[in-house]
Amino acid sequence: RAKQDGKRQYRFALGQDSESGLQQLRIEAQLWHALERQQLQVYYQPVLRHGRIESLEALLRWFHPELGSIGPDVFIPMAEQQGLILPIGDWVLREACRQLKQWHLGGRPDLCVAVNVSVRQLRGGGFVQTVAAALAESGLPPAKLELELTESWLMADPAGCAEVMHALRALGVSISVDDFGTGYSSLAYLKRLPVQRLKIDHTFMRDVPADPQTTCIVRAIISLARELQLDVVCEGIETPEQQNFVLGLGDLALQGFGLHRPAPAAELWPLLMGQAAFRTED
Ligand code: C2E
Ligand code: MG
Ligand code: MG
Ligand code: MG
Repeated sequence: RAKQDGKRQYRFALGQDSESGLQQLRIEAQLWHALERQQLQVYYQPVLRHGRIESLEALLRWFHPELGSIGPDVFIPMAEQQGLILPIGDWVLREACRQLKQWHLGGRPDLCVAVNVSVRQLRGGGFVQTVAAALAESGLPPAKLELELTESWLMADPAGCAEVMHALRALGVSISVDDFGTGYSSLAYLKRLPVQRLKIDHTFMRDVPADPQTTCIVRAIISLARELQLDVVCEGIETPEQQNFVLGLGDLALQGFGLHRPAPAAELWPLLMGQAAFRTED
């Protein structure tokens, strides 16, 4: 009987596997058309400092008419594998710069935008020109553009990335290390690479302030950043407890569902304008 159950389970697992494999193929095939069929949309998640929105992180969304909404954790790795990350990444960059310029013209010239960049884009050749073109086309000042590079990708080949990063800095854009603390970071490289910001990965926030070890690590990252004169963003702030705890550790920028979820540009506009009006009053 146990054997039978085991068999049934196995068959079930197999069935599920081939189905999810099929689904994967279906998604991959559709990804080729996502851009031209205008199924991609950029959402923006506010990053706050002292309760005020300082910048917005561009987060890609894919809405497929039959497959539904597919998350970037699923399709970005596929896009990287298929070489589609170059056209898709290029589109996100242009779209984010264009949107920010709109917000600047609309009354919030202080805002910055953060765009996630895959190391494949960085190393693909021509990336500096792509960024320069997106800036020129939109008229967005380079200092208002921040590029986010994931720690694990960056540290896999810091020397290979360094040259492009220096060229990007020369353009005037700033560079952040995303998902900081999840990979292996060489502190020597961190000092040598032209990086302005660390974004502490959201997985750390899950356990603060309850877990003493995680709390200790977060404290250490923040003091390291201070020594290296790097700005810090805490990602994944969901509760007031987490917010109060990290704010006690220094002058940080905060991002998380507890502050604001990623949202379409049009939905954010009243909020952004509300803060602009508030500022002119004081
Ligand atoms: P990321 O750059 O680390 O972005 C932050 C992710 O954390 C986003 O997930 C965001 O929705 C989520 N998040 C924000 N606040 C909270 C919170 O309080 N709790 C939790 N648990 N999560 C929170 P999302 O939008 O699903 O994006 C996932 C990843 O996909 C991004 O991680 C980024 O690495 C990648 N990605 C998104 N858009 C792009 C893009 O245009 N280009 C590239 N290359 N990668 C992108
Ligand atoms: Mg990011
Ligand atoms: Mg992150
Ligand atoms: Mg991430």
